[in-house]
Order: sequence, then C-alpha cells, then structure tokens
Amino acid sequence: LRSDVEGIRRALHNVKRQVDSVMTCKRELARLCDELEEHVIPEEEDDDPMDYDSSHHFNLLIDDCDETAQVSLLLAAISMLVLGVGRRAGEFFLQMVSLALSLVFDLVGPCADALRKRTLAQIPKTIPAALSRFSLEPRTTVYAVCPACNCTYKPRAERGKYSYPTLCTNIPRPGADICNAMLVKDPEDGCKSPIKTFIYYHFHDYVAALLARPGLEEVMDKPCDRLAENLDNQPTFLRDVWDSNFLWTFKGPDGVKLFANRGDEGRLVFSLNVDFFNIRGNRQRNATTSCGIISCACLNLPPDI
Ligand SMILES: [Zn+2]
Repeated sequence: LRSDVEGIRRALHNVKRQVDSVMTCKRELARLCDELEEHVIPEEEDDDPMDYDSSHHFNLLIDDCDETAQVSLLLAAISMLVLGVGRRAGEFFLQMVSLALSLVFDLVGPCADALRKRTLAQIPKTIPAALSRFSLEPRTTVYAVCPACNCTYKPRAERGKYSYPTLCTNIPRPGADICNAMLVKDPEDGCKSPIKTFIYYHFHDYVAALLARPGLEEVMDKPCDRLAENLDNQPTFLRDVWDSNFLWTFKGPDGVKLFANRGDEGRLVFSLNVDFFNIRGNRQRNATTSCGIISCACLNLPPDI
C-alpha cells in the first residue's frame, strides 16, 4: 500500500494542467494520500538512528579456515578481483596451490595426514566457492521491470518462493489505460523469471559493509575532521572533491555546515553515476542490447580505495 500511495503521488506530480476542476481533484487526491499515509506509515523521526543487522559482515567463513587455506583463498581472490585474471586461470592457481601443499605434506610424512586432510578440504576448487568465503556478494533484490513502461515490481515471497505479478498494473499517464504488459517469461512456471530485471543493491548493506571493516570508519571521518580543523583556511587549489566550495559550505537541516560540524556522527558523501553500455560490444550494425548501471560511491573513502 505504501508503494501504491507513492505511485499515486508521482502520478499527481505529473499532472500539470492548471484547470480548476483538475486542480480540485488533485488536491482531493493528495488529501486522501495524506490520510492513507497517516494510517499505514508509522511516524518516524528523521533524526532517529535506524537499526540494521550487519552481523553477516562480521561472521566470515574465511575466519574459520586455517592460515594456510586463508592465504590460498586470498591468492585466488586477489587474482580475480585485483589482477583481473579469468575464472579458469584463477581455478588453475587454486588447484596448483592444493597440489603444492599436497607435495609438502608428502614430505612431512604420515604424521601430518590429519592436517593435510583438513587444510586441503578448506581450499575449494572453484572461484565462486573461494569468493563466497569472503562474503563479498552484496545483498540484492531483483525487481521485475515492465518492458513497455519500465514500472518496477518487487518480488513477492510465498512459502519461501519468490514470484512476480504476471501483468503490469501501472497507469503510465493520468487518464491512460492500465499498461497490462506481460512481466514474466512464462506465467505457467510460477512467475519467477521476469522478462526485464532491475537488480537493486541494498544501500544500507553497502554502508554497513564499509563501517564493518576495521579502521574504515575512522578513515571515512577524516575528510570531515579536516574541514573542521581548516574552517578559516579554505584551499584555493582543489586537489580533492573535499576541497570544493560546495562541500565546505553545504548546510544541514539545522542550518550549520553539515560536514564541518559532524559532532560525533559520521557524515558521508556519495556520488551517483548513471551509464548505459552495449554488453555485446560495438559492432557495425549498432547496439542490439543495452545494460544500464546506476552506481554509488562513498567519497569519504581515500581515492586509492
Ligand atoms: Zn507497464
């Protein structure tokens, strides 16, 4: 119901006609939305901190592995994520490390058999299994997107299974008919495969992941602290986004400088970037598919991170 009310508000906002009868209907609908929100959405104080369970960022499978296995898994992770080697090459590294360790245990002799068995069992054979030990995968929600009007639909959970609505119920424009476009590939298949998807990476989980890393919270507070220390000495030469006049003078809801007066709170700045690209590369006959990314990056992090 909450999303329906938001949808009605968006549609109302798009009604631009300045005729008395239309304006009266618009006001009446806005009033009804207010009434609905009062009953449905609990009042929340903007200043209240929100609770978020970030325990999964602290309980990593890699912590339960022996040091030898940890180093092997780190090698695989860095090869893939930092050095950019392919999955097959990464899996080759993993298997070679297992083989090398096996040969070392052979040299030690039968007394190391238990250690050999335990260590080698902790080194997976595939890269996805190795990366899963680091809990790097973010939490996501896959929305179904209407191919006709691009309205998004959250999956419904029923008895542990996720499904999507079969047809789009959005009204793209005031006065238009319901879109009614098909949202899923096969309605007979439990409506679990949307034709078009939007994968939402949970923003709160991204922030929680940053704050969960040891030492990173202090690093992210430093730009604000530097502003506070140099309030009367604003740089004239910009070396970083944090030297910009915008961030130096940006005011918070209380009317004081938001980033220079952080108190005991963390004040984070994010950049939002949108880009689309042809996933099959540029060919002579032009793009056949397009994939879009909306990315968000925390600017409190040092550039080398
Ligand atoms: Zn639609």
